[in-house]
Amino acid sequence: MIKTIYPGQTIGIIGGGQLGRMIALAAKEAGFKIAVLDPSMDSPCGQVADIQIIASFDDETALEELSEVSDVITYEFENIDFEGLKRLSEYAYVPQGADLVRITQNRITEKAEIRKAGVIVANYVVATSHVELKAVIEEIGFPCIVKTAFGGYDGKGQVKLNSIEDLPEATPLFEHGACIAEAFVPFTKEISVIVQRNGSGETYCLPAGENIHKHHILHETIVPARVTDVVLTQATKAAEQIADHLNLVGTLAVEMFVLEDDTIVINELAPRPHNSGHYSIEGCTISQFHQHVRAICGWPLRKPVLHQQTVMVNVLGEHVVPLSNAIPKYPNWSIHLYGKEEAKTKRKMGHVTILTDDLNETLKQIEHSGIWSE
Ligand code: AMP
Repeated sequence: MIKTIYPGQTIGIIGGGQLGRMIALAAKEAGFKIAVLDPSMDSPCGQVADIQIIASFDDETALEELSEVSDVITYEFENIDFEGLKRLSEYAYVPQGADLVRITQNRITEKAEIRKAGVIVANYVVATSHVELKAVIEEIGFPCIVKTAFGGYDGKGQVKLNSIEDLPEATPLFEHGACIAEAFVPFTKEISVIVQRNGSGETYCLPAGENIHKHHILHETIVPARVTDVVLTQATKAAEQIADHLNLVGTLAVEMFVLEDDTIVINELAPRPHNSGHYSIEGCTISQFHQHVRAICGWPLRKPVLHQQTVMVNVLGEHVVPLSNAIPKYPNWSIHLYGKEEAKTKRKMGHVTILTDDLNETLKQIEHSGIWSE
């Protein structure tokens, strides 16, 4: 049953990180109240929430408490305990349901569902042990990438194997359970599409972003992605196809590889707002966070239109001080910092968004600022 949630009512968020914070800030503009569940006292979302429940994500009593104060519940990360979320969705209003979390938590189910949606993923095999991997790896060949089925992110929990001699390098991955081995994709670009859908099936995609990683962490998103119009159209179509197949309510980030011949291969999904969609706060007529709130509150969605070419650059721990010093120099940069106290190296602390009519000049400005030179 689809409900409409109105301003003045409370949105509960499981997870108090920056995604929760940006969902909360968008929701508060429309007069919603925010309750957040997070184990830390001073979480980025907790700082802007009306109600904080400080407990671990799988604490059933805390989830019950969240449901008592919330009219609708959403989540900002996918590694929540699925069984707990499922139980919660039986007595609280969780319009996104729990199934999408189950599917996207596990690369094996995720890839199978993407295929069922009629979209291409890299060829892969599943192995539950290193012995099994050895037996099936030739089906994929080399180079290939072995990834843990559960729990990997930002390049963690995966190794690239260039030949059969490298096989022992994959052994430690099996300590975390089953793995997949997938063919190495010789991509020319990595792009992502954020697709959002409400309970009535209304669906919109944000313009595709081109993602540039450094040390396996997203560094920069350039929008629109510098790919052909054919790729842009195909990317949106693929994201919509997956969203429809999964009966999506809320937000799904679809990460894709683009090949030389313009073929698109889906890499992975995230069932929540995504770092590569942060640009939409300033870059589009509606941000991924506002649209997410609309989708879970049963509101009609708005078609996102890009105002101008946009670049988003991530601010990691080591970038905070040089960025702060540079603020006076760059009035056109929108600075977002998430309120995290400890600026640890490589920790995501914030991002900068720049709208531009001269992309190359802006990319040069970013480079010459010296902030991201490490
Ligand atoms: P993932 O955690 O699956 O998003 O992988 C992290 C990064 O590793 C991706 O953004 C790619 O740059 C790279 N990668 C992952 N899978 C593949 C693949 N099958 N072929 C080539 N590069 C890959």
